[in-house]
Amino acid sequence: MLNHTPKEIYEKRGLVINPAKTCQPIGAMYAALGIHGCLPHSHGSQGCCSYHRMHLTRHFRDPIVASTSSFTEGSSVFGGLSNLKTAINNVFSIYKPEVIAINTTYLSETIGDDIGSIIQDAEIPEGKVVLHANTPSYVGSHITGFSNMVKAMVTYLAKSEKGISNGKVNIIPGFVNPGDMREIKRIAKLLEVPITMFPDTSGVVDSPMTGKYEMYPKGGAKVEEITDSGNSDLTIALGRFASEAGAFELEKKCKVKPSILKTPIGIEATDKLIMELVKATGVDVPYELEEERGQLVDIMTDTHYHYHGKRVAIFGDPDTVIALTEFVLGIGMKPIHVLTGTPGQSFEIEIKEMLEEAGVEGRVKSGGDLFEFHQWIKNEPVDLIIGNTYGKFISKAEDIPLVRIGFPVLDRSVHSYLPVVGYKGAMRVLEMISNALLDKVDIDSSDEDFELVL
Ligand code: SF4
Repeated sequence: MLNHTPKEIYEKRGLVINPAKTCQPIGAMYAALGIHGCLPHSHGSQGCCSYHRMHLTRHFRDPIVASTSSFTEGSSVFGGLSNLKTAINNVFSIYKPEVIAINTTYLSETIGDDIGSIIQDAEIPEGKVVLHANTPSYVGSHITGFSNMVKAMVTYLAKSEKGISNGKVNIIPGFVNPGDMREIKRIAKLLEVPITMFPDTSGVVDSPMTGKYEMYPKGGAKVEEITDSGNSDLTIALGRFASEAGAFELEKKCKVKPSILKTPIGIEATDKLIMELVKATGVDVPYELEEERGQLVDIMTDTHYHYHGKRVAIFGDPDTVIALTEFVLGIGMKPIHVLTGTPGQSFEIEIKEMLEEAGVEGRVKSGGDLFEFHQWIKNEPVDLIIGNTYGKFISKAEDIPLVRIGFPVLDRSVHSYLPVVGYKGAMRVLEMISNALLDKVDIDSSDEDFELVL
């Protein structure tokens, strides 16, 4: 337990304690699963691949499949060329995917394997695709890896045929759960806006139990769809850190206009996504969406006294944390500690601007760790923590409720099926925040103060 975390904050150099992130390959592997018929391939040691698969499997509670180049001492010294060529042959002949999406690890990056050249020399069966992203684990985080793999999808696959628009909007959803991707697709469907979402892990890591094992479930963005994304009119990238690199690459390669929005967590960010789709296509907002928004406002009115003025500490992936900060500020909470493990100064700038505008004084850090986050909380306690499962140790040590949102959530189930984005997702987040705070009131109440109605 973290009962002994010292209160005194000191500058740590070259040391991270309890990281608030994981490594690039895991994000790349998750993005790759969002291509239909894709087998992610990890070019490095078996241990890395096992860790990444295990972590994703625990979060999604679905078996995550990926192959590995299985580096030995020899390949670690002389390079992984022959391992990768053999792997491509074996994987296509044994596991028969449509696509192999290769990510690298620290080991292959340190050796300097030229994956692009190896792919060019490899024997790739007719109609099959091999693509790759360089994902050195000592740079960035799993979000950087996700972003690099999305960019690789564009680099390898997207094409434009001059002057022909497919009339679609591309949506890059960011590192969110399949339940969130489904919700974004549902909103677009209600608006009757044709979209191409990539990557799209819905139907892959939340595939239904059919009694029959399918290595490549029905979901995922098809290669033809990603190729055709170069003919779309607009790319909406949800979350700068995970999605803008892919959108900018598509602009550079195929001149598709990019629009960078926040991950649509909360009423404001959802409004912006809907209005962007409306602006791009001239559609009307259907009553169904207006009704959902109205219900959300009603719920906010009914519940505001549960959380208004409460102090909250938020940590996790930058795009999720930025959107959550905007949302909780909008409902009158005070996010006084905000941290991400992913490096990036723009995170700090954006959060500071939001806090300043709301008149809230808070600490913000990118590239930080949970040890420091805990120290902040020790010095200035909060009523609620919002973050992934790793927050539970601080939550227990400090007796502060934790709302689990983000990646990874390893000690709860069902969450990856249910959205936190859109108006429906905002209702769910409100419910989680309210219930966590009300549960704490119940737990802390003496018998005389224990109330039926709160
Ligand atoms: S890629 Fe690097 S950080 Fe990631 S599991 Fe392998 S050794 Fe660890």
